[in-house]
Amino acid sequence: MQDKLTAIATSARAAISEATNQEELKQFQIHYLGKKGEMTSVLRGMGKLSPQERPIIGGLANKIRDELSALFTAREVELRDQERLLMMAAEKIDVTLPGRQPSLGHLHPITLVLDEIADIFLGMGFTIVEGPEIETDYYNFEALNLPKDHPAREMQDSFYFHPEMLLRTHTSPMQVRTMEKVAPEVPVRIIAPGKVYRRDDDATHSPMFHQVEGLVIDRNISLSDLKGTLLLFAQQMFGPHQKVRLRPSYFPFTEPSAEVDISCMMCAGKGCRVCKDTGWIEILGSGMVHPHVLEMSGYDPEEYTGYAFGMGVERIAMLKYGVDDLRLFFQNDVRMLRQFR
Ligand SMILES: [Zn+2]
Repeated sequence: MQDKLTAIATSARAAISEATNQEELKQFQIHYLGKKGEMTSVLRGMGKLSPQERPIIGGLANKIRDELSALFTAREVELRDQERLLMMAAEKIDVTLPGRQPSLGHLHPITLVLDEIADIFLGMGFTIVEGPEIETDYYNFEALNLPKDHPAREMQDSFYFHPEMLLRTHTSPMQVRTMEKVAPEVPVRIIAPGKVYRRDDDATHSPMFHQVEGLVIDRNISLSDLKGTLLLFAQQMFGPHQKVRLRPSYFPFTEPSAEVDISCMMCAGKGCRVCKDTGWIEILGSGMVHPHVLEMSGYDPEEYTGYAFGMGVERIAMLKYGVDDLRLFFQNDVRMLRQFR
């Protein structure tokens, strides 16, 4: 019986190493180790053995079974890897299959509006300047006629790194930076688009939003130049029937200062919920550059005048697209963004 078992082991070892594929190996495994396999049929004779012989044969049988099982498993892994390599080598690209459509992205609505604003002003002879989002207290406030204890600073509470360094609260520092760079040359005709930061967060305010600053300096610049420029802007942005009106206001860096309203595009000036029945919608702040600001930046206020304005890009986008919550622009919900393809 011992000899029979040893013979089975020898022939099984040979069969395992000769198997050429997984299916063949499987058949060998059944043949030697299966329920009706050779091992089982030999061990069926165990009952005829003496009590002394049984454990010896049993132990040998177990040893052979364990060894063969391990060999089968190892060979199976080997054959599987071989077959996979062969399949990969044989694989061909079927050029007749339909192509997969890559999903293309598109510009964000805020970018679209920014581009449109820039296009309109470029068409009027403005150039674009860009500046740092981390700004010094001097450029963000002081050079704009907002000294350290000025109460208007409260309206633009921001994020400070230390007392002299903050995230800019508006794009107006670019007025000063530009004037310092080119003074006393004229004309200055720039817009400065970019991100600005304030401590607000609600349906119409976001801690980060976009502004476009505008600045014009030359001889004989007057409030009517400002109004004419903004009228042209409003008509190109919102339609040819737009009107604008200037309402007296206050900004430390302009004198006189004005809020600029455009006629409500929802009701054509008749009065509705959006314009709170006034027929007008506020879109930006503006004014004539304060003589002190001109002087600090190297322009003689006796010789030169200028105007400046600053608009919120999200506000323009909300009005243009009829979006009623500013936060929708920043939630990155593709169902919302997809509408601006
Ligand atoms: Zn209205």
